[in-house]
Amino acid sequence: MRDPPLSRGATVWLTGLSGAGKTTIASVLAGQLRAAGREVEVLDGDEVRRGLSAGLGFSREDRDTHVRRVGFVAELLARHGVLALVPVIAPYAATRDEVRAQHEAHGTGYLEVHVATPLAECVRRDVKGLYARAAAGELTAMTGVDDPYEEPGRPDLRLDTTGLDVAAAARRVMDLLIERGMA
Ligand code: ADP
Repeated sequence: MRDPPLSRGATVWLTGLSGAGKTTIASVLAGQLRAAGREVEVLDGDEVRRGLSAGLGFSREDRDTHVRRVGFVAELLARHGVLALVPVIAPYAATRDEVRAQHEAHGTGYLEVHVATPLAECVRRDVKGLYARAAAGELTAMTGVDDPYEEPGRPDLRLDTTGLDVAAAARRVMDLLIERGMA
């Protein structure tokens, strides 16, 4: 008989605007969880768009397809003991709910973290220069500017990173994982 897995996997979906802090928090958290001996995968939105979601754009349909694909992979990983951290905007509530439901159908842990940094702060940071390009009219369908972002109604955690340091933000997510018996 095989020993049961020591730790259960789960998906932690970090949703929010571009520049909100999703990727930064996921990467700090990944380091801490790996140091604690956990198997972790970060399914970064930009990376997945270059591979699994290559060819998809930013229409509602394409965004939904992207989110469903990432959700599918995350659930598979999580079902097999991995902590899947997903820093992906996922702007539509119905699609996020589908991903959660898919996890629940398999009895796989799922947490939705709304990285709720306000648009003004994201624009001030403008990590990738995208807001400047949107303002200059060089880019359209920018989430929060001329494309929708539907705020989560009942996230497991809501985190505004304005005036918060990265370590403190990661700590809040880690505390939630511990509280839910996932870390
Ligand atoms: P996203 O993945 O949501 O598009 P990024 O993580 O790429 O956002 O960028 C967020 C930026 O905000 C980074 O430059 C990061 O250093 C900065 N930042 C400032 N405070 C925080 C915090 N508390 N948590 C996360 N990021 C923060």
